[in-house]
Amino acid sequence: MKFKFKARERADELVQLINRRVPDRRIKIVHVCGTHEVAITENGLRSLLPDRIDIREGPGCPVCVTPTADLDAALKLAERGAILTAFGDMMNVPGTAKSLNELKSEGADVRLVYSVSEAAKIAENTDKQVVFFSVGFETTTPMTAAVLEDDPPENFSILPSNKLIPPAMESLLELPDNEVDGFIAPGHVSTIIGVRPYERLADGYGVPIVVGGFEPLDILYALALIMNQISNSDPEAENGYTRAVDYEGNPKSKKLIKEVFKETDATWRGIGTIPNSGLTLNRDYEEWNALNRFDVEPEEGIEEPPNCLCPRVITAQATPGECELFREKCTPSNPYGPCMVGEEAMCNIWYRYGGRPKL
Ligand code: SF4
Repeated sequence: MKFKFKARERADELVQLINRRVPDRRIKIVHVCGTHEVAITENGLRSLLPDRIDIREGPGCPVCVTPTADLDAALKLAERGAILTAFGDMMNVPGTAKSLNELKSEGADVRLVYSVSEAAKIAENTDKQVVFFSVGFETTTPMTAAVLEDDPPENFSILPSNKLIPPAMESLLELPDNEVDGFIAPGHVSTIIGVRPYERLADGYGVPIVVGGFEPLDILYALALIMNQISNSDPEAENGYTRAVDYEGNPKSKKLIKEVFKETDATWRGIGTIPNSGLTLNRDYEEWNALNRFDVEPEEGIEEPPNCLCPRVITAQATPGECELFREKCTPSNPYGPCMVGEEAMCNIWYRYGGRPKL
């Protein structure tokens, strides 16, 4: 545990608050953010809390939820001669036949980039077509929108696979027996979208939703606010990360997204199709869509690898430890399912950090 001096006192105070408020039954809290899962697991926060508080990661890892069909489309684009650029975590995700890294080792021009701007820079310095595999949530989408608004080189395009968090949270609430007692909403995403989009979910489903930051104390604070709401039977959308998140989010980023993208139904790995949960380029920006430019259509109905429990892990219905392949046939150096690949993926995080002993 990384708490020091006053922080340690504050942590004790918050844990006591949580203990006083938590009902005498199993309470399932879901967060939708890999950074939250790292903070929770690395700092052993679960070990500070009563066993009946069960904290799960939902669909908060962009790598895990990117469907195989989109990955296969990226592979196809590279096979057709484009320079395919992608974030590092995407490189090892298994597609139907292979990963991007495997295709690269066969000679395709697949390059790891740290930003969409870096991909656009590559396009400035070559005559070849350069495609950016645009994955991620509301946090990263504004940067892609900004590059497209800024008149990028003509040989640049994107494979749009961006997704929206609130519809994914709603899809979990729609699952029969979802047992979700509360959400910690993701701090990064909320800096863009604000708190308002969670209000409809909190009111409609009667579930507490608290925006949480990423320090261990932020997470304990968010949990304390959730327990407070549960014990008062007063579920609402609440901001537990006011030093970074405004109620309305970031209007400039929201405007940018709206100018370049439009909402569309999207397939989430492990969940299926969620209405209006994805973004594709709107009419004015369609020319930058690599799928149109290369006439590639993502395939429907691709099966997940057999025996991989990712669909249940992504929907917070199972933990990595419940998968028989965890640590055995599936490891970060030899991932079988997408939840073992990304550094924000639950199986990967649990593999790296394991549990922490109680203090
Ligand atoms: S351990 Fe591997 S196979 Fe099992 S759920 Fe996680 S990613 Fe899938």
